[in-house]
Amino acid sequence: MGPSRIFPSWRIFLALRCIFTLLVFTAVSTPPEDPVKCASGNTDCTVTNSVGIFADRSTCLAANVAYPTTEAELVSIVAAATKAGRKMRVTTRYSHSVPKLVCTDGTDGLLISTNFLNHTVRPDAKAMTLTVESGVTLRQLIAEATKVGLALPYAPYWWGLTVGGLLGTGAHGSSLWGKGSAVHDYVTEIRMVSPGSVNDGFAKIRVLSETTTPSEFNAAKVSLGVLGVISQVTFKLQPMFKRSITYVMENDSDFGDQAVTFGKKHEFADFVWLPSQGKVVYRKDDRVPVNTSGNGLYDYLPFRSQLSAISAIRRTSEETQEKFEDVNGKCVSAKLTSSTLFATSYGLTNNGILFTGYPVIGYQNRMMSSGSCLDSLEDGLVTACGMDSRIKGEFFHESCVSVPLTHIKSFIDDVKALVKIESKALCGLDLYNGFLMRYVTYSSAYLGRDTEALSFDMTYYRSKDVTPDSLTETAKRNVNSSPDLDRTGKPKLDLKSL
Ligand SMILES: Cc1cc2nc3c(=O)[nH]c(=O)nc-3n(C[C@H](O)[C@H](O)[C@H](O)COP(=O)(O)OP(=O)(O)OC[C@H]3O[C@@H](n4cnc5c(N)ncnc54)[C@H](O)[C@@H]3O)c2cc1C
Repeated sequence: MGPSRIFPSWRIFLALRCIFTLLVFTAVSTPPEDPVKCASGNTDCTVTNSVGIFADRSTCLAANVAYPTTEAELVSIVAAATKAGRKMRVTTRYSHSVPKLVCTDGTDGLLISTNFLNHTVRPDAKAMTLTVESGVTLRQLIAEATKVGLALPYAPYWWGLTVGGLLGTGAHGSSLWGKGSAVHDYVTEIRMVSPGSVNDGFAKIRVLSETTTPSEFNAAKVSLGVLGVISQVTFKLQPMFKRSITYVMENDSDFGDQAVTFGKKHEFADFVWLPSQGKVVYRKDDRVPVNTSGNGLYDYLPFRSQLSAISAIRRTSEETQEKFEDVNGKCVSAKLTSSTLFATSYGLTNNGILFTGYPVIGYQNRMMSSGSCLDSLEDGLVTACGMDSRIKGEFFHESCVSVPLTHIKSFIDDVKALVKIESKALCGLDLYNGFLMRYVTYSSAYLGRDTEALSFDMTYYRSKDVTPDSLTETAKRNVNSSPDLDRTGKPKLDLKSL
């Protein structure tokens, strides 16, 4: 149903809900804590991720953590650890990957944090390049590029990822245009510090680029953090431009055909598919001339800070629905969540304050990504990011699959067939705003994609307290359907989107 066909009482209801939603997502928040914690100074440490727990519910141990502030310090840290034959891994400011990529095995490894490798090295407006240290966050990268009138064309939608982490995992936004949506395909040079021989002084700085070292460069563009510590990265950027975004909700009857062609029509297209409701939200998102009027802002509602008390109520309600297997309750909550997000334009505003209608037009740096909960005032956890593990808030599994465009129609038809068999089975997904579907394409990176595809992000409920030893009778009965446990009741390793 389009907004213009909504009855007046519904309009009042929606308006009240929008006001409530904006009140719930407030402007201040306690920032997330460091994922590395040490019992004494920088020794005897643990590392976790931004949700406070890895996929197998473990926390990893390390003998100590080092915080280099310059490349020279980084080289001496890697050299000393290499000489001592120690295992090393790189950790970042927030550590957003769900798999245990940052863990060394055993307890005597070394963590190298990029928290303070967060400086801009060299902006070059004429060459349209920007060199930064690897601990720079996406938010900083966007801001630094903007200062010299440049823009990164495609990126993940969340500000908290670092340049090293983006390259480590092949992170992406959504596009089939240009070189596609993966950040690593806009990199021209990587400086990496790796273990070296005695003659190298036990550490080596490798300068990798497409022109001088193409094979090493293509290996390092997506490295899973195993080839060395990325010290600095140079990006090839574009002149600042504007985008025009319109969200349209339609039924999903012809979605299989639309999914194949929509990404060719709109440069930044993506979809939110709500299979249990038979709906798709199409994001019509195009580049427009920089002199087009508009100063829109994308400040995605779930990435704003939230009142911890409200997060706790939502989590309690979800746990109650799980406990009583209340599928109908889940479906009602899912509809409420997705319609509220749609009615509040997902946090898009035409001028940074108010949403007055589509299209929303704004500069790329204001429209591409968000995460305002990350950088706010300390307020003793009265407010926080919704996924902050110190509050009773969101706790979920996240999985991702990429489906080649050549198979997308049959994949969508298969999901629809499942919904036909059990119409409410996917309400749990819709509760987390359904499938987020984004376009990805070929990359020269060895661990990059080899075809045009749609990447499906799926987020869904995860229990906080299920362990094999503490299973309640109900949980034991449900063990086969728990995403956390295998048939024997042991925790399962799950695959998380990279
Ligand atoms: C809320 C949220 C939103 C997200 N949105 C997106 C999205 O829109 N698109 C997308 O593709 N993904 C997304 N992700 C997943 C995310 O891209 C990856 O988890 C990302 O790699 C995490 O970056 P990070 O800086 O937190 O790195 P970490 O998780 O800390 O590290 C990831 C890997 O990179 C390695 N690494 C990090 N820095 C370096 C370095 N300097 N040198 C060598 N290795 C290094 C680490 O050792 C590790 O192996 C999202 C995740 C969350 C939690």
